[in-house]
Amino acid sequence: MSVTLTSGGVMPLIGLGTFKIKGRELVYKVLDVALAAGYRSIDTASVYRNEEDIGESLKELLPKHGLKRQDIFITSKLGPKDQGCGRCRESCLQSLNKLHCDYLDLYLIHWPGTQGMQPGDTRHRDLRLQSWNDMVTLQKEGKLKAIGVSNFLQHHIEDLIKTAEHTPDVLQIEYHPHLIQKGLVDYCRSKGIHFQAYSSLGTTTDNNTLLTDPVVCKIAKQRGVTPARILLRWAVQQGVGVIPKSTNPDHIRNNIDIFSFTLSDQEMVSLDQLDTQSHLCWNPSQVL
Ligand code: NDP
Repeated sequence: MSVTLTSGGVMPLIGLGTFKIKGRELVYKVLDVALAAGYRSIDTASVYRNEEDIGESLKELLPKHGLKRQDIFITSKLGPKDQGCGRCRESCLQSLNKLHCDYLDLYLIHWPGTQGMQPGDTRHRDLRLQSWNDMVTLQKEGKLKAIGVSNFLQHHIEDLIKTAEHTPDVLQIEYHPHLIQKGLVDYCRSKGIHFQAYSSLGTTTDNNTLLTDPVVCKIAKQRGVTPARILLRWAVQQGVGVIPKSTNPDHIRNNIDIFSFTLSDQEMVSLDQLDTQSHLCWNPSQVL
């Protein structure tokens, strides 16, 4: 299952998240299992410090799995320390280099702010607009197929659209039954921006409140599937993309099996009712 982005690229609805997956051996092993299981989309970022490991691994793994570069969708992101005219371009070219790619399928501004500044600093706006203009140029040059934003709220996106010539293809943001952002989903839909969720499984933590939520577990038990598949299915059933992260081969294979069943309206409503507006990752609401 995939979506066609405004820029024309086709993006799988499910991809592999790679935050905290580092080290050549582990990255190779995880990508090997993921490609065999059918994943064709990989989400990374310069701040994950695994782009080089991913690039090196894919050089060997694509031929091993009978795949070509154009068969997979690679996303990377501009780090918050590299915002601004010129810096964004340089950072993006470094990501391309590390990933051994001539082009990226999607490049995102990771965060609406710039590292080292207070959230209320008035320079954030200018700097992210400069980054965006660099990305528009890189897209025109063919180095980026699609461009988008991450952790932007509606006012950040509105401001970007007002000023720039290009609407983002994608918004990637935290979204799960404990943090439902329906207004933002509807806004993105109205603008043709694909909405992609991160931390759908409650992120990597010792105290995972999503995978152990009693309602999620009850629906999973009734259906004979894992809580992870319920959480991922809940998102894709709304047309929202997902990028679950796992280093466990069984989990990797299990997580992609979300198109073989449909949640009932009642199950969807029960999951929607779990919203507590709880952020598990960073919260961009204070960033000007
Ligand atoms: P997820 O919400 O995907 O959760 C990962 C955790 O779930 C890990 O502890 C993993 O453990 C566990 N898990 C995965 N599958 C299963 C399963 N089937 N059963 C039980 N446990 C499971 O975490 P992330 O926060 O990493 O989000 C996913 C991706 O989103 C990131 O990797 C990254 O690519 C992106 N992201 C983007 C952000 C942004 O600011 N743009 C911020 C955060 C994430 P195990 O490895 O043992 O399976």
